[in-house]
Amino acid sequence: MVSRKIKNGILKNNSQINGDYNFELDSSLFNAILDSISDILIVINPKDYSIIAANRGYRRKEGLLTKDIRGKKCYEITHHKNSPCLPPKDKCPMLETLKTRRVARAEHVHYDKNGNTYYSEIITHPIFDKNGTIKAVVHLSRDITDIKRRQEETKKTMQRLQALALRDPHTGLYNYRYLMDRLSTEIEFSSRHSLSLSLIIIDIDYFKSINDAYGHAAGDRVLVEFSSFLKALLRRTDILTRYGGEEFVVIMPQTNKRDALSIANRLIAQINKQIFKVASSFIKIKVSIGIADFSVSNNLVTTKAIFDAADKALQRAKDAGGNRAAVFSELYRGKKAKTVSDDYKEDVDVLKRKISKLGQRVDQAVLESMYAFSKSLEARDYYTAEHADRMISIAVALGKKLGLSKQSLNNLEKSAVLHDIGKIGISDVILRKKGKLSPEEYKIIKTHPQIGAEIIRAVHFLKDVVPIVLHHHERLDGLGYPSGLKNGEIPLSARIIAIADAYQALTSDRPYRKAYSKKKALEILQKEAGLHFDKKIVDALIEIEKRKK
Ligand code: GH3
Ligand code: MG
Ligand code: MG
Repeated sequence: MVSRKIKNGILKNNSQINGDYNFELDSSLFNAILDSISDILIVINPKDYSIIAANRGYRRKEGLLTKDIRGKKCYEITHHKNSPCLPPKDKCPMLETLKTRRVARAEHVHYDKNGNTYYSEIITHPIFDKNGTIKAVVHLSRDITDIKRRQEETKKTMQRLQALALRDPHTGLYNYRYLMDRLSTEIEFSSRHSLSLSLIIIDIDYFKSINDAYGHAAGDRVLVEFSSFLKALLRRTDILTRYGGEEFVVIMPQTNKRDALSIANRLIAQINKQIFKVASSFIKIKVSIGIADFSVSNNLVTTKAIFDAADKALQRAKDAGGNRAAVFSELYRGKKAKTVSDDYKEDVDVLKRKISKLGQRVDQAVLESMYAFSKSLEARDYYTAEHADRMISIAVALGKKLGLSKQSLNNLEKSAVLHDIGKIGISDVILRKKGKLSPEEYKIIKTHPQIGAEIIRAVHFLKDVVPIVLHHHERLDGLGYPSGLKNGEIPLSARIIAIADAYQALTSDRPYRKAYSKKKALEILQKEAGLHFDKKIVDALIEIEKRKK
């Protein structure tokens, strides 16, 4: 029998608690031992759940003296309840110990008077008598708030790290690893439920030229801006990832390739309208998009197969000049190559055609890259937007009228686009200045034909365009720049470009004035004929404009 005589919060005759123990301790010493335990400790009578002993930790926690605790039920003091706990709703390790006759453990969440959460760990030990009857339960509890907090922090850190491992740190988009995992999951799902699934690869056109023109840091910013721009344009179900470098991949669940194509075209249209402002630069970008879909009939059922297909489509889009989307089609799969041919001549022709096509493609690629440069200038030097297109039509019309050869017309067209490419080397502050330029600034502006010529000189097939770009700011009276050439010394195409440039500038709105009417613009050119401009060409322009009416 457990003694009910309690002195100073502990049993008087401890030898009766557990048959294995035979304490001969003085109660004050026993009391001191209990108090020295830093955990909160009570001993409970299993018959009526009354508290037979409580250490200082417990008294302090409850703010009670031993006399206030003595004989009270554990649930009255600890839980302020009138009846015992009711498992399983209440997690009571003491009841569990009584049921299982083993040590039990539980974690409790509590709230202090300020509403802060704290945690405790409770461990209950049964104390048996000689007959194996539970005579008492030792109830230890410990504040584990710190441990819990640390565990939670560690868990959160782990989750953050895991998330980071799947994100590209630069753009915050999902990375390659995530893409591959997710794509295989999506393929499996689409396959199981016979749903469509498309994959699109987006590659920024001539991204190298953006780095070259504005610096790598600006290129980095463009990638970030572009990523969020793209994300905003896509649907919530689309999964946007950075595939690497300036390439992005979107997984489009439940989307067939036709729908993916129309989304891709919409993206391209929006991207074409967008100007990315980075530091003081205004940058336009273009993209090419390759599309493929999950397709059993085309044997596009693995991540690799779908990727390869989308990549081939992307190459198609690039080969066709970029700024467009292409869908993978079965036709792309290489036709069987001819190995032996009796018809030697036919092979040579095929080879010739191939080489010439390859050459054209390279030329085209370089030209496109230069055009991309000039287009990015349009965004910087904003009043020249659409400049290039109008320039081409005016210059080519003049060239035709003046009887230029096909080759010269071709060069004239290139010069129309590229004549201002040297402005890439001039600061936006000067290019976009609204007021009058200072002599110093004007001197800087005057360097653009030379810079342009330097850039173009590096491209062999543009060699005939170099003098046109270099001399498009010369004047007939020799007061132009950079060389002060006069009259016939100035290449004819450069004289044409000078007039086309002036005419299109006069007829466009400028920050400091409205556009002149065509009539007024022609009058101004006429006034300058013989001094600044070639009279013969001004007359040709007047005639062309007259015909248009
Ligand atoms: P295209 O795709 O039209 O063929 O031309 P491109 O110049 O975009 O293509 P390419 O794939 O040859 O070169 C990609 C360039 O993108 C190379 C690299 O300088 C640039 N690039 C890749 N990743 C980053 C990046 O994180 N930051 C910056 N600033 N540039 C990058
Ligand atoms: Mg690329
Ligand atoms: Mg690219």
